[in-house]
Amino acid sequence: MAELDQLMMKHCISIAKASGKAGEYPYGAVICRDGVIVAESVNRVTHDRNVTHHAELVAISLAEESLGTISLDDCEIYVNAEPCAFCSYAIRESRIRRVVYGVSSPHMGGVSKWNILGDVDLSRSMPEVFRTAS
Ligand SMILES: [Zn+2]
Repeated sequence: MAELDQLMMKHCISIAKASGKAGEYPYGAVICRDGVIVAESVNRVTHDRNVTHHAELVAISLAEESLGTISLDDCEIYVNAEPCAFCSYAIRESRIRRVVYGVSSPHMGGVSKWNILGDVDLSRSMPEVFRTAS
């Protein structure tokens, strides 16, 4: 893993741990562009009483708002655990160019359970919406 990836992942794990200690699910997501963090979030489902507030989705919303675009083509996302199917779909639609995650999630994962991050049909059928599968 490249040095920048290690730094971002360490930060991601750190915010995820803090989230767990604060009574939330221990997930964190960090979005960066050219080595600079543009948005980050922890899981907020419990605190916000909203099942859509996964760390990745909140971070994507913050990044899009901050950068003034819905297309995050030049961004990367770091997550301490494999994004779920729900988040993987949003990652594809936001066109994030690269996903780096820690532990895999064989029961909910957007790669190992349902391969949404790698589904070539999505981008082949609707290239204007979905980034090419990685
Ligand atoms: Zn998710």
